[in-house]
Amino acid sequence: MAQRVPISDGGAKKTSRVRVAVRLRPYMAKPDEKDEGPCVRGVDSQNLEIINWRNATETVKYHFDVFHGEKTTQQEVFLSSVKPILPHILNGQNASVFAYGPTGAGKTHTMLGSSEQPGVIPRAVREVCKLVQSKNEEDGWDYSIGMSYLEIYNEKVLDLLSPNSQDLPIREDKEKNILIPGLTHTTVLSFADFDKHFVPATLNRTTASTKLNQRSSRSHAILLIKVVRTQRVSHRQQTGKLYLVDLAGSEDNRRTGNQGIRLKESGAINLSLFTLSKVVDSLNSGTSGRVPYRDSKLTRLLQDSLGGSAHSVMITNIAPEYKYYFDTFSALNFAAKSKLIVNKPFTRETVTIPNVQVKRTREDQEAGCSGPE
Ligand code: ADP
Ligand code: MG
Repeated sequence: MAQRVPISDGGAKKTSRVRVAVRLRPYMAKPDEKDEGPCVRGVDSQNLEIINWRNATETVKYHFDVFHGEKTTQQEVFLSSVKPILPHILNGQNASVFAYGPTGAGKTHTMLGSSEQPGVIPRAVREVCKLVQSKNEEDGWDYSIGMSYLEIYNEKVLDLLSPNSQDLPIREDKEKNILIPGLTHTTVLSFADFDKHFVPATLNRTTASTKLNQRSSRSHAILLIKVVRTQRVSHRQQTGKLYLVDLAGSEDNRRTGNQGIRLKESGAINLSLFTLSKVVDSLNSGTSGRVPYRDSKLTRLLQDSLGGSAHSVMITNIAPEYKYYFDTFSALNFAAKSKLIVNKPFTRETVTIPNVQVKRTREDQEAGCSGPE
C-alpha cells in the first residue's frame, strides 16, 4: 500500500506571502459615450497611479510586486506570474493563482483567455503536462495528473464536471489537507484530454450565466490540478495541488441597486471576498494572529494552498475607464495596503470656479486650499 508522506508543516507558524500582481486592461472607448480618457496609468513595472477623487490635481500611487500594463501579453503574464511556481506542484507542494477585480476588468481574459490569446489556465496545464513528461523515467518516481473543476456560488460548492451536483462538503484530514468528498476527479493524460473535460464544463457555466443573469460573474470558478507522484522503490507518495481561480466580481453589488436574489448573492460574494481579503492581509502583514480561513467556503477550500508552505499569486485585474473608478479604487486598496498621495496632476487639470479659472499650485494643495474665496 502506498505510504503517505506529509509534506505540509501542518500547524507550524511559518506563512509565506501572497505575491500581488496588478494587470491593467486596455482602454475600451465606446463610440456613443464621451471620451474621458483613462483614470489609471502605469508608472513602471511595479507602480501605477490613479486620479485622487478627493482632489483631481493629485494622484494616488500604489506599489505592487508586479504591474502589468495594458500592452502586456498573455504570454508575459504567464511567464512572470505563474510559470515559476509550477515546478513546486511536482514536488508535493501546493500553489494557487487567483484573478481578482471588478466584472469587466479582465479576470476571465487573464485566466481563460480565448483560442487566439490563451490565458493562464491552458498555459499552466500545458506546462504541467510538459514538466511531468520530462520527469518520467529519469528520477525514480511515477507521476499522474488529475483535475477537478468546481464553482462556489452563494456559499455552495458545486461540481462543474458533474451536472446537477448538490452542495458538497469541505473536509480536512489528519495531515491538514483539505478535501471535498464526492467531487469528480478525472485523470488527465495529456492537454487534449484536459480540454475534452474542461471546455464543455466551461461552456455549461457560461450558458447558465446568460440564463441566470450574469451568474458567472457572481460565482468563483475553481480549477484544481493535482499531481501525484509515487516513488517506485519505496511507494512513497506525494501530492501537489494547483488551484486556478477566476473569482466573482469584486464590485459592490449594494451600490449597483441589486435586490432580492441578487442581494442574497451579493451577501455571499461579499462574505467570501471579504474573508479572502482578511486572509491575504493577515498572511502579508505577518502578524501572528489567527488566519480566518474558516470564515468562508472559498478560503476554507484554499486553506492548504494559500499561505503556509504554499505558493500563491493574486492577479488583480483593473480597467482604466472612469465608470470603474470606485471599483478600481477598492480593488487596489485590497491589493496594496500602502499608498502614496502624489501632488502631481495626472493630466494637467484646471479647476473652474465661477468666473475665475484657477490653475492650482502646489502651495494651494499643501495648504489645503480649495481656491480663492
Ligand atoms: P471579467 O472576467 O473580469 O468580467 P473579462 O475577462 O470578461 O472580464 O473582460 C472584459 C472584456 O475585456 C472582454 O471582452 C475581454 O476580452 C476584454 N479584455 C480584458 N482584458 C483584456 C486585455 N488584457 N486585452 C484585451 N482585451 C481584454
Ligand atoms: Mg469573467
